[in-house]
Amino acid sequence: MTDFDVVIVGAGAVGLACGYALAKRGKSVAVLERESVIGSGISARNSEVIHAGLHYPTGSLKARLCVAGRHALYAFLKSHNVAHQRCGKLIVATEDSEIPALERLKQQAEINGVEGIRWLTGADARALEPQLNAVMALESPESGIFDSHGYMFALQGEIEAHGGVVVLASPFEGAAPSTEGFTVRVGGPTPASISTSQLVIAAGLGAQTCAHAIEGFPPARIPQLHYGKGNYFALAGVKAPFARLIYPPPIPGALGTHYRRDLGGIARFGPDLQFVDHEDYVVDPARAASFYQTVRRFWPALPDGALQPDYAGIRPKLHGPGEHQGDFVIDSETLPGLVALFGIESPGLTSSMAIGDEVAAHLSA
Ligand SMILES: Cc1cc2nc3c(=O)[nH]c(=O)nc-3n(C[C@H](O)[C@H](O)[C@H](O)COP(=O)(O)OP(=O)(O)OC[C@H]3O[C@@H](n4cnc5c(N)ncnc54)[C@H](O)[C@@H]3O)c2cc1C
Repeated sequence: MTDFDVVIVGAGAVGLACGYALAKRGKSVAVLERESVIGSGISARNSEVIHAGLHYPTGSLKARLCVAGRHALYAFLKSHNVAHQRCGKLIVATEDSEIPALERLKQQAEINGVEGIRWLTGADARALEPQLNAVMALESPESGIFDSHGYMFALQGEIEAHGGVVVLASPFEGAAPSTEGFTVRVGGPTPASISTSQLVIAAGLGAQTCAHAIEGFPPARIPQLHYGKGNYFALAGVKAPFARLIYPPPIPGALGTHYRRDLGGIARFGPDLQFVDHEDYVVDPARAASFYQTVRRFWPALPDGALQPDYAGIRPKLHGPGEHQGDFVIDSETLPGLVALFGIESPGLTSSMAIGDEVAAHLSA
């Protein structure tokens, strides 16, 4: 007998979604979180966009889990009264040379099974969003925004309602395989050793460190972590110009600096992509210059001085500058009874419930 059927490391959106998926299948679950609150990692520093799933390559986990996760997420948010808006998104070409990129995106969206994508002329787009500069646009009606913290609290509630526990201030310090599964070392104010049949690493930026602390996990199977910082600027002193999400065509390694009006009505631009060598969440005001340039392509009326440094998040990337952007890694093969998640960058929030189902399927196989 072990203390738990499954121990999950990390109480971000993904670890909590894994906990919910496993608890509702009747497993006794403990989610270990090193911080004193849930959801203070990557899940607290992002765009809170529900992605439709247009961008991701054919056959990738990102493509499949984003579309499945979006359906599951909207249903969960509705049934749990978590604030969200299916506000839709426009991906805009501001000059003719950008239209081929949108054509490729539309084809990819169709392959990925994204519903409702349609072309808009510049005039159609301006009829929806009068301040927009666009020669053509793609409309994605299934894209939206949501309250990610409300979502994570609802997941925690579900885990606890199914008899599971979310244990705060409890850093995972390491694990060793045992005859019944794993013995897990937990640090913090009351260090402990607990036994579990199965183990899930959903530690975001800490995933590689956790994997290195598992006896028998070959270092060669741990993908290298790169920090892909994304900076945001908020719009100050001006009314939010658009109701929908506005995106430029994608850039290598990211979706491009976009516009969103959050559920509280605040307009923000970002994230950009800046590779850094350590966790650093300070937004350099000097980056505003490139934001003005990018944003004015689709919103020429952006006034001088209206962008204020806001916040930053860090993507747990598995590729460095100039390298091919990889997929999510869901490693269920290195050790029996272990699933380790690496590189859960965007669209990880949108995909989280589908990742939970995928992890549960691996652990019951
Ligand atoms: C700038 C940016 C914008 C993004 N925008 C979007 C978006 O609009 N839509 C979307 O779908 N996705 C988006 N994403 C991606 C999304 O935010 C992430 O994929 C998702 O939040 C990852 O969740 P997670 O649970 O894996 O990681 P986290 O939220 O970081 O959770 C991991 C948890 O593990 C804990 N932990 C780490 N080490 C240990 C340890 N040793 N012991 C115990 N606990 C530990 C951490 O404290 C943390 O709470 C964005 C990401 C970034 C950076």
